Amino acid sequence: MRAYKFLLRPTVGQEAALRDMLRDHCSLYNGALQERRDAYRHSSKTSVKYGDQSAQLKEIRAFDPERHGCWSFSSQQATLRRLDKAFQAFFRRVKAGLTPGYPRFKGVGHFDTVTFAKDGDGCRWDSTPHDPQTRVRLQGVGHVRVHQHRPVRGRVKTISIKREGKRWYVVLVCDEVPPEPLPATGSIVGIDMGTVHFFTDSGGVHQENPKFLEAMAEELTAAQQHLSTFPKRTRRRTKKHRAAARKVAKLHAKIRRQRLDHHHKTALALVREHDVIGHERLNTAGMTKAPAPKPDPEQEGAFLPNGAAAKAGLNRSILDAGWGIFLGILAQKAESAARRVIPVNARNTSRTCPPEIGGCGHVAKENRVTQAKFECVKCGLVENADRVGALNVLYRAGLVLCDGA
Ligand SMILES: [Zn+2]
Repeated sequence: MRAYKFLLRPTVGQEAALRDMLRDHCSLYNGALQERRDAYRHSSKTSVKYGDQSAQLKEIRAFDPERHGCWSFSSQQATLRRLDKAFQAFFRRVKAGLTPGYPRFKGVGHFDTVTFAKDGDGCRWDSTPHDPQTRVRLQGVGHVRVHQHRPVRGRVKTISIKREGKRWYVVLVCDEVPPEPLPATGSIVGIDMGTVHFFTDSGGVHQENPKFLEAMAEELTAAQQHLSTFPKRTRRRTKKHRAAARKVAKLHAKIRRQRLDHHHKTALALVREHDVIGHERLNTAGMTKAPAPKPDPEQEGAFLPNGAAAKAGLNRSILDAGWGIFLGILAQKAESAARRVIPVNARNTSRTCPPEIGGCGHVAKENRVTQAKFECVKCGLVENADRVGALNVLYRAGLVLCDGA
């Protein structure tokens, strides 16, 4: 799957039509929401389903051909589905014992996207293929010029029209994207995911955790502490309580976004540099019961009794949470660049004397002297502990390669 976003260059008339299209989809959304609200408030608590509303579309279109009949049937269905998703999320949170806000009406100025679920159904990507100027045809709007600044690969699945300020964009989601192989570098690497460093590679280079995460972890701790001063169970939250909850949610979202951005950049750098990347296989169960933070002689001050421990724990959870996501991104990027990613068994990678650099292969807990130092009790090999993990991952990835070859 891959998404592309291109600027649209509509004519004055087309732009007016695009605005009308958003306005009418917005009114459809709000109308469908009204119906669900009425049903929900009714004493019988009947609920309206997507299927019921979709079935009414035909009548609505026939009843008001000016404002509804002229647009694509499938984009209207997509709008109803979007409302349905909002309701599903709402009921899921209610079920989980939370008190979510009921889905809200959207102001015309805030309804900015119309989606077409399938290329060719009410819309057509590259509708004038013989003209060097790319266009997208939209039902009720016409063939709109597209500023296509890069080639589209794969098969176009969905097409969305998006308004951002005064600009209009088309967003394509493609599947069956063929790989664009990168030139071979002849390099193979193992990485060891850590807590102190984001990861360490088999060359001994540490990839640090991004600094902004630490700064934001502190901000989040403060915001959560503030939120915890409000009573947990309450019928009506005060304005200040809501503001405090909003702040925490906003910080979480910001951290998620920035971490994702960091993951993408880090994964891309790895894929550019190496033909083969070995990493520890994560099992989600193992992830959740990651070792409890222990006092660390080399990381003094990390776990002091004055509340710093809690903070460190939070720091850690924020920094850790992304590994599974990171490896997913890495696998995706590797696939589209025709690189190979090899997950290996992580058992004892940090306790084994690394054969990769001439170690004896002896496995012992005692080999690991401290968080950072590895010293083999049998042959005396000394190396940075994180690098040892990465070297053993590399060794195991190499074995997998040999087996496959
Ligand atoms: Zn050894």
